[in-house]
Amino acid sequence: MAFDCDVLIAGGGPTGVTLAILLAKRGVKVIVAEKEAEIYPLPRAAHIDHEGMRILQEAGAADAVMATSRRASRYEFRNARGEVLLCFEGSDRTGPGGWPGANMIHQPSVERALRSGLATFPEAALHGGWELDAFAEDAEGVTAEIATPDGLRTIRTRWLIGADGARSPVRKAMGIAFDDLDFEEPWLVVDVLVDDPSRLPTANLQICDPKRPTTCVLMGEGRHRWEFMILPGETPEQVSADASIAGLMKPWNVDGAVRIERKAVYTFRARIARVWRKGRVCLAGDAAHQTPPFAGQGMCSGLRDAANLAWKLAAVIKDGAPESLLDSYQPEREPNLRATIAMAIMMGRMVCTTSRWGAFLRDTKMRIGRALGKLPTTPPDYPPISAGAILAGSPGAGSYFPQSIARDGTKLDDWLGHGAWLISRSELAGEALAPFAGKLGSWLDRHDAEAVLVRPDRHVFGAGDPEMLRAAWKAATGLEPPPPLA
Ligand SMILES: Cc1cc2nc3c(=O)[nH]c(=O)nc-3n(C[C@H](O)[C@H](O)[C@H](O)COP(=O)(O)OP(=O)(O)OC[C@H]3O[C@@H](n4cnc5c(N)ncnc54)[C@H](O)[C@@H]3O)c2cc1C
Repeated sequence: MAFDCDVLIAGGGPTGVTLAILLAKRGVKVIVAEKEAEIYPLPRAAHIDHEGMRILQEAGAADAVMATSRRASRYEFRNARGEVLLCFEGSDRTGPGGWPGANMIHQPSVERALRSGLATFPEAALHGGWELDAFAEDAEGVTAEIATPDGLRTIRTRWLIGADGARSPVRKAMGIAFDDLDFEEPWLVVDVLVDDPSRLPTANLQICDPKRPTTCVLMGEGRHRWEFMILPGETPEQVSADASIAGLMKPWNVDGAVRIERKAVYTFRARIARVWRKGRVCLAGDAAHQTPPFAGQGMCSGLRDAANLAWKLAAVIKDGAPESLLDSYQPEREPNLRATIAMAIMMGRMVCTTSRWGAFLRDTKMRIGRALGKLPTTPPDYPPISAGAILAGSPGAGSYFPQSIARDGTKLDDWLGHGAWLISRSELAGEALAPFAGKLGSWLDRHDAEAVLVRPDRHVFGAGDPEMLRAAWKAATGLEPPPPLA
């Protein structure tokens, strides 16, 4: 049976559509099967970080997202008396990804921007109302049965990606279990449309009040969000009743300034699938991992999965790289996930304290930590890739390669394009790198290296002698070394 596509992606959420765009950009034929007819309208992600924005940049959606997003310079954790326990500052400053550190967004708008981008690629198709029912794998590919509005369809693909969300039918069909990281808290999420922004907080807030842990954050597209923890003994129905919401919002004094757009109850969980790839099937995004939202990293993590998978799948499908390159996907991504989830759980435990004694101990500990200068004041750096398709042991291997911005505002990735880059000192004087020579030279100086090879997902493969890097890249990935930049 002939192949209908190279990659079938089950799930047209942010992970699936981003992956589809990054694959289509590399000439891979891709079909996205999304069971819903429309973009999921309920409130979810409100924050995207600078790395996520850089991935959206490659996907062609960053400018549209920036146009509808907002920035907050502070993320404060306050106790019931309003005392600041922990504060991350400067999140509106440009991060290493070349975009502001924290961008407050409206997830359906991000998804709309991604879908409009995907629609411009003839190699890619997204079908709403297509639900993956079953699939079977053989030596050459995967045969998938899809329920469509016109009846059952069979799609033959070389690879199947389950980007089908937390309940992932693909993960279930593969019999993959979760590693449960022991966090489970139900919260009510309330999104509002803002009529009078002057009456709303300008910082993102976690109110660590044991009587009612509460989150209040900015969003994009003229919205703001409140989240209220559902306390032991309460039911979601009680807390999400209109009268209850009115009572919860009262202390914020925003009557007349906002209109409630949506409410939803979510159980925040922390879980990681034990296996992310079996043969020709991989998991990505929420299908592979879920985090409580306190660090705003769920969707960002799915975008990182997409960036990690896209170049590897394209290398295998288009450039003859060995399938074993895909074995590096989980070992590269999982430690990063574990670190982001650990941070979210730490924040969540701080916020979700409902005993007065527990809150007293927490506040005392935080007060001492703050006085001693032991608390972080900026968002954390998550760990670099430590094992996988990198030249381990060479300077900077696995670290995130920063995106510099030229004086005229041009961004490095737009200038150099989406492939791997081999940047050598000898080329810094040439025209190809001229607008960025200073910053790139500083990176090489800091790492005492003659050259750096940067992977397409903007992690450093390795640094050192250019010839050595070319040979090591070929040996590690099976790919030809990147062409000269000049
Ligand atoms: C309250 C809340 C706040 C959050 N805040 C943030 C935040 O600030 N920052 C952040 O980065 N993340 C945040 N997140 C997390 C973020 O929303 C998710 O991580 C993100 O949506 C995951 O994207 P995904 O594409 O992997 O999965 P999803 O968005 O869940 O998409 C999966 C898609 O698969 C489809 N599907 C399912 N089964 C099938 C099937 N059989 N066939 C075809 N299609 C199928 C579904 O319809 C769905 O559209 C938050 C989440 C919540 C709930």
